[in-house]
Amino acid sequence: VPELPEVETVRQGLNQVTLSQEVQGGEVLLTRTIAHPESSSDFLVGLQGTAIAQWHRRGKYLLAELKGVRRAVPLSAGWLGVHLRMTGQLLWTQQDTSLQKHTRVRLFFADQRELRFVDQRTFGQMWWVPPNHAPEEIMTGLKNLGPEPFSEAFSVDYLAKQLRDRRRPIKTALLDQSLVAGVGNIYADEALFLSGVQPQTCCSDLKPEQIERLAASIRQVLQASIEVGGTTFSNFLNVQGLNGNYGGVANVYNREGEPCRACATPIQRLKLAGRSTHFCPQCQQ
Ligand SMILES: [Zn+2]
Repeated sequence: VPELPEVETVRQGLNQVTLSQEVQGGEVLLTRTIAHPESSSDFLVGLQGTAIAQWHRRGKYLLAELKGVRRAVPLSAGWLGVHLRMTGQLLWTQQDTSLQKHTRVRLFFADQRELRFVDQRTFGQMWWVPPNHAPEEIMTGLKNLGPEPFSEAFSVDYLAKQLRDRRRPIKTALLDQSLVAGVGNIYADEALFLSGVQPQTCCSDLKPEQIERLAASIRQVLQASIEVGGTTFSNFLNVQGLNGNYGGVANVYNREGEPCRACATPIQRLKLAGRSTHFCPQCQQ
């Protein structure tokens, strides 16, 4: 499941290949991938004749700022939004490349090139946000997102305030996108290990120094993964269809029974809010 570092890697890749080229058409192979407009032909008509000025990211949402291409002065042409959810992939390819089995949406660019949305589990979504609408008016999930982990808003004070009265386990809180945007199961486990916090710890029981370490650890694990081109822990593919798998650097994620890299105690696994949670019972108290 793509988390912030994977989505950020996709964003950077898209900015390298897709900008300022006219969207000439497209094809929607699975209509429910299009979350807005209701009609997938309206989605394609909205995009046609636009070009992408810049890709942005908010949490795990990708937001392409569109401009008109047929005028000297860039004209706002709305937004293209994408959420990869569990298995979505955006691939930059030639139009004559044979279709992957789970291809859902195709956007045709000049020179026979194509942005292709492939999604096995079909939870992924795409939006066209018409001009004169803010993305969050149409992509309502954006409204519920907490601060970006690298923003000033995600401060130790903020985190302390948010966690003070919460009675749920800290691991569960970290997965809540309204607390902090973009953190998912892998990076929550890794950040908790790095900060030495046991995942079941009740939020309101966290000490100030634990909260401070946690805020720093979240940024550290995300940054480290962004620097190596997305996750090091899964079969994530970048926009060129390449796997950035550097392997073996997770401290706890998916390492049940293996020795902790710090103390050699076997890593344990438990379920919290239905999610597999990995931790070192010695290093995390
Ligand atoms: Zn350990």
